[in-house]
Amino acid sequence: MNLNNFQFYLANLRPWLTLLIIAWFLGSIGLGWLVNSIIVIIGIMAIAPVVAFLGLRWWLQRNLVTSQCPVCGFEFMGLNHSNIQCPNCGEHLTVDGGKFTRIAPEGTIDVAAVEVQTQVLSEGDGE
Ligand SMILES: [Zn+2]
Repeated sequence: MNLNNFQFYLANLRPWLTLLIIAWFLGSIGLGWLVNSIIVIIGIMAIAPVVAFLGLRWWLQRNLVTSQCPVCGFEFMGLNHSNIQCPNCGEHLTVDGGKFTRIAPEGTIDVAAVEVQTQVLSEGDGE
């Protein structure tokens, strides 16, 4: 190791050495608990954003769905098991099984249900 590298190495280490000296000093005057709690707090502060980021990414990977609007074919993202509105055509959609489906069933299904009801009603009237 030549002299330049060594100086560079020292410059990088200096803040940590200072911290170590401060920690040792606080510990030597009976404030070791303070050092410990500061280390714990710093550790939590350092780890919490990473955990939150990883958790959010995991959650998004599970729940974020990119698919096409079944009405107009516009591709966008939505959250799984939620109701959304197509930003392009305004159709109300539900996200299920990794794709978008229309919330309102096809008109024919509604009409068929109404027809069955009328049939039952008219048969009842006939008696
Ligand atoms: Zn659409």
